[in-house]
Amino acid sequence: MDTALTLAWVEQAARVVAENRDHLTNLDAAIGDSDHGINLDRGFTHVLDALRQTPPQTPGGVLLTVGGTLISKVGGASGPLYGTAFRRAGKSLGDTANADMHQLSDALVAAVEGVRQLGAANPGDKTMVDALLPAVEAFAAAVEADADLVAACTAAAEAAERGSAATIPLQALKGRASYLGPRSMGHEDPGAASTALILGALATVAAEAHHA
Ligand code: ADP
Ligand code: MG
Repeated sequence: MDTALTLAWVEQAARVVAENRDHLTNLDAAIGDSDHGINLDRGFTHVLDALRQTPPQTPGGVLLTVGGTLISKVGGASGPLYGTAFRRAGKSLGDTANADMHQLSDALVAAVEGVRQLGAANPGDKTMVDALLPAVEAFAAAVEADADLVAACTAAAEAAERGSAATIPLQALKGRASYLGPRSMGHEDPGAASTALILGALATVAAEAHHA
């Protein structure tokens, strides 16, 4: 994965977040404060500006800019959590110009570890971790099985989607939704849903690059 593909991912993620802004906000209306889509869409708009102003020269540099911008521009829980995920992934990649499958897998592991350190969420707490962790595991399993980038990203995106759907019956134990107690059950977690979208964007651009 080179710098151009990393930039393409971020641009595609910004696009799907914008397209799903109202959907994500509606999910947050059910169990939060109706701002998740707005928060992320604003964040990714700032991200695109920052990338245009100072174009990074490496995949890790792109991810560090994404993370730093999300931390500084997005309020709420999700800005620092997503920001930390991208920053940790960027740091993990270091200054490599073209990340191989193992480096990408390590970067994803670093991302989910960062989210869990900051937010202290366990699997099953009905948060973005419920989408991100199975995705990271699916990516690692695909790499172990010698899958290529398209197959590994597709496996990760599908695992994130399943993980997000599986948050519906759960009771939220972290974040704003936990204030609702059992009334948080029956709704998909907005942060898990956005994680599935962002990883879906990665699978999309990987497939496009492969067929180009
Ligand atoms: P806020 O809850 O501050 O309004 P957002 O609405 O933007 O922020 O984001 C809410 C999402 O953040 C939740 O759906 C959940 O996925 C995620 N989240 C909240 N708290 C945590 C946490 N401690 N660990 C992991 N994810 C969390
Ligand atoms: Mg919210």
